[in-house]
Amino acid sequence: MTGERRRFREHVIEPDEEPDAEAITFTAQCAVCEERGPTGDGGGEVTGWMARHLKAHPEHLSYREIITRPYRAVPGAWR
Ligand SMILES: [Zn+2]
Repeated sequence: MTGERRRFREHVIEPDEEPDAEAITFTAQCAVCEERGPTGDGGGEVTGWMARHLKAHPEHLSYREIITRPYRAVPGAWR
């Protein structure tokens, strides 16, 4: 019977800042009715959507900003 050898590799999880990484995106969401605005690069559309939503729904006073940020696992040393 042969022995089994296993090798494990450590990884470091870090934000993916490579040129081909997925874009970081921002989405506004109403915390009262859960409706979401468009997803974009965060250039002001988040608070713009919140202001328009508030105008249409004056009683909706709580909001969220949902940030999607890509991460990657970077291989490290073998153990
Ligand atoms: Zn709402």
